[in-house]
Amino acid sequence: MTKFSFHLESTYAELPEVFFSKLSPTPVNQPEMVIFNQSLADQVGLNLGKLSIEERTKFLCGNQLPHGTEPFAQAYAGHQFSNFTILGDGRAIVMGEHLTPSGQRIDLQLKGSGRTPYSRGGDGRAALGPMLREYIISEAMHALGIPTTRSLAVVSTGEKVFRETELSGAVLTRIAGSHIRVGTFEFASLQQDKRITEALLDYMIDRHFPEIKGKENKVLAVIEAVIDQQAALITHWMRVGFIHGVMNTDNMALSGETIDYGPCAFMDTFAPDTVFSSIDHRGRYAYANQPYIAQWNIARLAESLLPLIDGKREEVIATVEDLLNSFEQVYKSKWLTMMGSKLGLTEVSIKDEKLITDLLDWMHNNSADFTNTFRDLCKKLPGGELYESETFQNWFARWQNRLKKEKQELETSYVLMRSLNPAVIPRNHKVEEALQAGEKGDFEPLYALLHAIEKPYQDGEHLLPYQSPPRPEEKVLQTFCGT
Ligand code: AMP
Ligand code: MG
Repeated sequence: MTKFSFHLESTYAELPEVFFSKLSPTPVNQPEMVIFNQSLADQVGLNLGKLSIEERTKFLCGNQLPHGTEPFAQAYAGHQFSNFTILGDGRAIVMGEHLTPSGQRIDLQLKGSGRTPYSRGGDGRAALGPMLREYIISEAMHALGIPTTRSLAVVSTGEKVFRETELSGAVLTRIAGSHIRVGTFEFASLQQDKRITEALLDYMIDRHFPEIKGKENKVLAVIEAVIDQQAALITHWMRVGFIHGVMNTDNMALSGETIDYGPCAFMDTFAPDTVFSSIDHRGRYAYANQPYIAQWNIARLAESLLPLIDGKREEVIATVEDLLNSFEQVYKSKWLTMMGSKLGLTEVSIKDEKLITDLLDWMHNNSADFTNTFRDLCKKLPGGELYESETFQNWFARWQNRLKKEKQELETSYVLMRSLNPAVIPRNHKVEEALQAGEKGDFEPLYALLHAIEKPYQDGEHLLPYQSPPRPEEKVLQTFCGT
């Protein structure tokens, strides 16, 4: 029997029973470790070092769990492309919670671990490609300094999964601050029992917003905190050109982390209406729409919490509406500060907005690459034909004049810029290349890509193959959920 040197808790399973189903992962045939994130294991204090590679693999595919572990699948609901549905972990199981050395409670979740009571018609399994995609993008987001769930491992199962074609199966181990989503509150409110929603709210406050504990109106305080949290998160996405792809309410985590990497991708050429998801026909989750969708999702959270607020209905609704409307201002202010910082400005004011939007307009009109343009601006004199145009030169002169008005040394501005404008992102065509090779059993492109995105703010020769935008024939126009 394997000796595990850690113990997993299940405090979530102390919530009312409607919120979860206790069950174990379905064992897999021939597990093989594809990738293991040692630095993450070290960081969160998960000591797997005492386990042999076979034992570790058995653990990270769900074939063997520490004694006393009580795994569970979570129930939730969600608005998917604005349609309400009852959902739940259809192919994921939380193995348990682990306390990190700094005292943070994190979930260890297996994705692709077999059917659950929430599987609906699904097989409960996951294909290798999409699990590797989640691994790559979540680790890239982390390296970029963006709140995200993390990926501890991908284990191939030796079993086939059937989608449009036959694919290799895999299990991903995800680490998250928690898996409480806006959709978890929508599910709670469906029970028509205030005590159930309140139990979830208190649990979430404990885990994510301890500063709100004991506050007089905890519901309003939570909504306000979530507005701030999500506005900050979306601002980061906009900073690096990230498009989530399926911002359904069940894919918005109240830990403030980016979660559920399905048909997501980073933008190459700057175009605000960019969409990658093969199922997003109307562009609901396009790049530029993301802040509006975040606000829409928070409105669904607020609706679920309304019954917990005392007072006259009309007054309560008016207060909550005002609060929800404040999202626009909160977001705008964060976005302005961030975009200004991308241009080296430390005291950004509304007067700087035109400088920012003129650059973005120029990029859009000239099909400029989002990442490379901002990184080129970090060089004192960006070179290349694109930058020789009169429009760009005029903008550049205005920007340089504005930089001179900064209180700090010019070099400080450039240091700031280099810390926010990455030299490399996991470009979609490189991700696809790594996934396709992986499906054939060749993991070298995956490892090389992961190495390239480890330190995205440092230049280096090894980054060159990852910095060029795709050639026309390399362009990936759509990404798939891979469910
Ligand atoms: P996602 O698009 O990954 O956020 O998934 C939406 C919902 O479908 C979630 O409730 C998933 O648990 C469920 N789901 C996705 N794929 C499968 C599958 N292969 N088997 C069962 N349920 C699934
Ligand atoms: Mg999801």
